[in-house]
Amino acid sequence: MSFSLAIHGGAGTILKSRMTREREAAVHTGLARALHAGEEILRDGGSALDATVAAVCALEDDPLFNAGRGAVFNSDGKQEMDAAVMEGKTRKAGAIAGVFGPRNPVKLARAVMQRTDHVMLIGPEALKIARKEGLAFEDKQYFFTQARWDALQETIKLRKEGSVSDDPARRHGTVGAVARDLRGTLAAATSTGGMTAKLPGRVGDTPMIGAGTFADNETCAVSCTGHGEVFIRWNAAAEIAARMRHRGETLRQAADHVVHEILAPNDGSGGLVAIDRDGKIAMPFNSEGMYRGLVDPETGAKTFIF
Ligand code: ASP
Repeated sequence: MSFSLAIHGGAGTILKSRMTREREAAVHTGLARALHAGEEILRDGGSALDATVAAVCALEDDPLFNAGRGAVFNSDGKQEMDAAVMEGKTRKAGAIAGVFGPRNPVKLARAVMQRTDHVMLIGPEALKIARKEGLAFEDKQYFFTQARWDALQETIKLRKEGSVSDDPARRHGTVGAVARDLRGTLAAATSTGGMTAKLPGRVGDTPMIGAGTFADNETCAVSCTGHGEVFIRWNAAAEIAARMRHRGETLRQAADHVVHEILAPNDGSGGLVAIDRDGKIAMPFNSEGMYRGLVDPETGAKTFIF
């Protein structure tokens, strides 16, 4: 048995027409770093859960992506982060929503799964778990990025004028990973700052098990990115697993159907990365691009934007 790993850095990629060479190179470097972090663990016989968390941490630490350090701002100019993990063998899951402080929200989601009897925690109790677990905290300055702040100001201005931004990079983004380890266990991890200028307290699909994050060894592991409300209403990630289980669809068929036939016609711009029990990967998206990458022991690591 071999391992495989796929990651995404969000479907809110900058429009092709506005992409610069420097930015493109920086995105590829960030994605490659995350793939490497996950691959090392899988190659050494580590778990799919650890690999997905490591890959997501690398993306959370990179200010280019909307999660952790590069999280977007809500309409009050604050950052509230959501994250989730799920392991496919036991179907154990952990999630947090609306947190600010932990350097790597995905590690807190894993702590909720491993240290509590619950699946999702919010508020001060979630932060207490982070402290108990000894997770690193960062201050406002660490999480501040000028580009995200400017995006908030621009979005507020456009809203006042009654128009909507045409730039998906301004609106959203998320990071995520799915993996199959050498024992055949699947896992998914997802982390996000949510959508720019979201209402304080708004929670997206990312931490909702079955919507933005899902893993089941019998079918697949999925991590989504896109217009969260639509992914929640169509239960996007679990719908892929359900189609495989009940309709006998392949991962590719099920993932394509959900992204192109269900989400796209319902204002659900975005995409996802998914992996099946045989380690096959699907990375469909209906947006202009999706930062993404995969590693396969035979073909090595590859990263893509458009
Ligand atoms: N799905 C995320 C959310 O709605 C945002 C994104 O991936 O673009 O919070």
